Amino acid sequence: MKKIGLFGGTFNPIHLGHLRAAEEICDFFALDRMIFIPSSDPPHKEKEEILPAPLRAEMVRLAVSDNPRFALSGVELDRPGKSYSIETIEDFRRELGAGTHLYFIVGLDAFLEISGWKDYASLFGLCHFVVMTRPGFEKKFSREHLPVELADEFCYDTREGGYVHRSGFLVYPAEIIGLDISSTRIREFLRKGNSIRYLVPPAVEAFIQTNHLYRNKDSEATG
Ligand code: ATP
Ligand code: MG
Repeated sequence: MKKIGLFGGTFNPIHLGHLRAAEEICDFFALDRMIFIPSSDPPHKEKEEILPAPLRAEMVRLAVSDNPRFALSGVELDRPGKSYSIETIEDFRRELGAGTHLYFIVGLDAFLEISGWKDYASLFGLCHFVVMTRPGFEKKFSREHLPVELADEFCYDTREGGYVHRSGFLVYPAEIIGLDISSTRIREFLRKGNSIRYLVPPAVEAFIQTNHLYRNKDSEATG
């Protein structure tokens, strides 16, 4: 049985927090592969500071290229319209078949918004979930972080160290070392013209600088 992690995100841009988290989850769950899945372009105008998906995907490609366990998937980019995790998970289930265990990787900050995701109640019947601690956020995952309406569909399994859904799939809390890095902070640094060295892989930093990404438009015009 192969074990594959699916790691979705905006990756605007990808940073060492994402990469270190993925590396630790690979080790902890003995995953054969971690697939990074950048989201498609958001349909709303107010999300303007999100770079076009092909650029975000290219940075993910650069970031994962030297790690044999990591890979990039363009599945959400190829699908028109907004990205929905349920469609992504179903795509991978179809493609990889029943012989593969799928683990959907998500930070606790993102997991707490899961009741807003499309068909969220069905998600727990499709694959395992790994919910990572996020530094600067709340410390530990606990039962109260499961969606309230679904809480009685889960019971804790001490042997597995996770919450078993009635479907048999688990929600695993994962405590990672956690680097307190966010894409938001990186974009702020870039707007101010500050260095982002040691926050992203060198190839990603070079790509951002070469293509003048995330620059403050006003400062570009004057300087
Ligand atoms: P932004 O600040 O733009 O929201 P971000 O740093 O949160 O960016 P996302 O692309 O939104 O990055 O995150 C994708 C996934 O990675 C989410 O599940 C998020 O919780 C997780 N994640 C992001 N940064 C870290 C980190 N430093 N440590 C652990 N998990 C992280
Ligand atoms: Mg985020």
